[in-house]
Amino acid sequence: MSWINDGGDHEGWVARILDDGREAHGSTSRRRDDGSVEFLELAPPVGGRWPEREEQVSSDRVCRWVVACTCGWRGSSWERVTELHQASEVEGREWRPLGDVGDEPQHVEEIAHTEWRRHLEPHDASAAVSRAAAAVARNQELWPFLLDAEGPFTEVTPTAR
Ligand SMILES: [Zn+2]
Repeated sequence: MSWINDGGDHEGWVARILDDGREAHGSTSRRRDDGSVEFLELAPPVGGRWPEREEQVSSDRVCRWVVACTCGWRGSSWERVTELHQASEVEGREWRPLGDVGDEPQHVEEIAHTEWRRHLEPHDASAAVSRAAAAVARNQELWPFLLDAEGPFTEVTPTAR
């Protein structure tokens, strides 16, 4: 799942990081001969030489989750632990057993979404300042014409009723 801002120039998601540092860019699954399901990550080719064929690796190799954005921003990360007793929300260790999907736990996604929204605030504020500056510039361009049209400082006397 990903999130897009109003301007469409930022898209955030929780990236799944493999044990060799590669970032999975998708996931899939397949049924083994014995009927069980194997969860897989789609990984870019080693060395990043596109358009070589992507590699499918076991979701057991997901070792970390990082909140990410297409602008290059990276936020908090969470370590994956495969034994429940190793998990610690305070220390950023999240439980996802072997054989399971590689997705982050739901509460991690919620925290990540909040953090991603926060990273947009300076961007949103500077966009608002840019809009205000453009409005001021337009008004300054119009100002001489307004003076010409109405004359400088025409006094208006309120009329009594
Ligand atoms: Zn961004």
